[in-house]
Amino acid sequence: MDSKTRLKVSPDFLPQLTGSFAQPAAENPTVAMVEAAYKYHGLHFRYMNCEVSPENLENAVNGAKAMGWTGFNCSIPHKVAVIKYLDGLGESAKLIGAVNTIVKKDDKWIGENTDGKGFVQALKEVIDPVAKHITLFGAGGAARAVAVELALAGAKSLTIVNRSKERATVVVELLNNKTPAKVNYHSWTKKYKIEPKTDIVINATSIGLYPNVNEELDIDFDSIEPNMVVADGIHNPPETHLLKTAHTKGCKTVSGLEMLVNQGVIGIKYWTGAEVDPTVMHRELKKALHIK
Ligand code: NDP
Repeated sequence: MDSKTRLKVSPDFLPQLTGSFAQPAAENPTVAMVEAAYKYHGLHFRYMNCEVSPENLENAVNGAKAMGWTGFNCSIPHKVAVIKYLDGLGESAKLIGAVNTIVKKDDKWIGENTDGKGFVQALKEVIDPVAKHITLFGAGGAARAVAVELALAGAKSLTIVNRSKERATVVVELLNNKTPAKVNYHSWTKKYKIEPKTDIVINATSIGLYPNVNEELDIDFDSIEPNMVVADGIHNPPETHLLKTAHTKGCKTVSGLEMLVNQGVIGIKYWTGAEVDPTVMHRELKKALHIK
């Protein structure tokens, strides 16, 4: 082909690139959900699911920068390690101390954390956390992200119920020192009775996660009252034992699947500026996870 007949390179053949770096990566359904939203909304973006080991994280981040990626997700085990390759952190990511979404803003690579933001966005469709009393089970990475976002969103009090006191104390002190919420710890050595003043009950432990779907939280289920909103961070299965029980009591509920979808919605907004339709992503995620 000579220079006269050579095709002019059209920008239509050059999508904006986004993706995920994690290990393991193969079971992460985010790619299906995000690409479905890109396609549905005609966004000229792609999302690559990449298996990246800890030794290769720096090269992967540099590769994304060199190739002009718009941003990417980082999942286990990179949520803390990736911070040293970034130029800055968003407000809640700084408090949480971990990031899962990286966004290029004016040539700077900024780390955000959408774990808690996705949860709060899903919760807000059912109840506004402002001035609410919350009981949160768990003090791991997901619980910390959820607790920080709830405190920043205006929750009045949080009771963190966790098996390991050491882990919970770190979260309690962080929130009491850095946010206006009143936060306390409750040990979890025997069946826990939820206080009647609780407005929102949240499971942010891994209890009930596939394949251990029959595992139950050690709580007095009679202490769940119909006026409480009950949420679970577990996305697979979306209808956990806790949520099934809450339904039988007449409670409104929020599932981990909705949290995951909303994380995707927020991530896409960061990268593309577009508000995408969560129902498209919800449908695709259920299909990817073989959920009816
Ligand atoms: P971590 O390993 O950091 O924390 C696990 C938490 O569960 C800890 O608080 C741990 O308590 C508690 N826990 C585990 N087993 C038991 C048990 N048998 N009895 C009592 N407590 C228990 O995990 P993550 O915080 O990263 O993830 C937690 C869950 O959240 C996972 O199931 C994950 O799938 C889900 N998640 C969902 C997301 C979504 O978008 N839907 C996003 C991120 C996470 P202890 O400190 O005492 O060990």
